[in-house]
Amino acid sequence: MERRKVLTAGAATGLAALAACASNAASPGSRPIFSVVQPMLPIAGSSEMFPVRRIYCIGRNYAAHSREMGSDPTREPPFFFQKPSDAIQYVEPGTTAEHPYPTLTKNYHYEIELVVALDKGGRNVPAGQALALVYGYTIGLDMTRRDLQRAMGDEKKPWEIGKSFDHSAPMGPIHRVAEVGHFKSGAITLKVNGVVKQSADLSQMTWNVAEQIAKLSQAFELMPGDLIYSGTPENVGPVVPGDVMQGFIAGLPTLDVRVV
Ligand code: MN
Repeated sequence: MERRKVLTAGAATGLAALAACASNAASPGSRPIFSVVQPMLPIAGSSEMFPVRRIYCIGRNYAAHSREMGSDPTREPPFFFQKPSDAIQYVEPGTTAEHPYPTLTKNYHYEIELVVALDKGGRNVPAGQALALVYGYTIGLDMTRRDLQRAMGDEKKPWEIGKSFDHSAPMGPIHRVAEVGHFKSGAITLKVNGVVKQSADLSQMTWNVAEQIAKLSQAFELMPGDLIYSGTPENVGPVVPGDVMQGFIAGLPTLDVRVV
């Protein structure tokens, strides 16, 4: 319901964006046959919205989580995957969003993460300049069909079905850097039914936010509207319908989600 509201709010912009994209291929005056909704997130303390272009996610960015996933905890180069931007489920602070348990999985995992929102783009951005691309931050869950992710990994196939499904990106509103600053350290925790499951500090990231942007910009041209999930700490685990997840990052409102 909340997601629908947010997505619909962007419909007019979506049409404009589609027309702009199509302008590469279409003859002047041609019109799209339908509109595609532009995913957007509210900006905290503002009536403006943040239109979302792409959602990048970094894998295994905390050493202890790398170990639990069976990787070498040394500082291996970061790797990235994407979620579709319409996988966003907006979670209004102060409310508990109802999150649908997805199809196909029997091992559905939480991963609490700091999410970075860019309002500037670039290629080959030096780490020393990378934070200038950041508009704000939010808290998000990188929900994962772990059994499917592992099965695909075992078969050397893409992770898509484990990571990039509908509603797999619950997140709160964007908080502007001008108001909350940059997040280089601070507690990041996740509780399930009131019990602490994940608890770490943002300073324990293997690759910090600036380094993530720098590396990502070598592989992709970053653009305004891109989001980056910055990785999850250790102790990921399963949830089942009825469970309530409460995510917390120091300096941001709590993210409350009930699996239904
Ligand atoms: Mn993740």
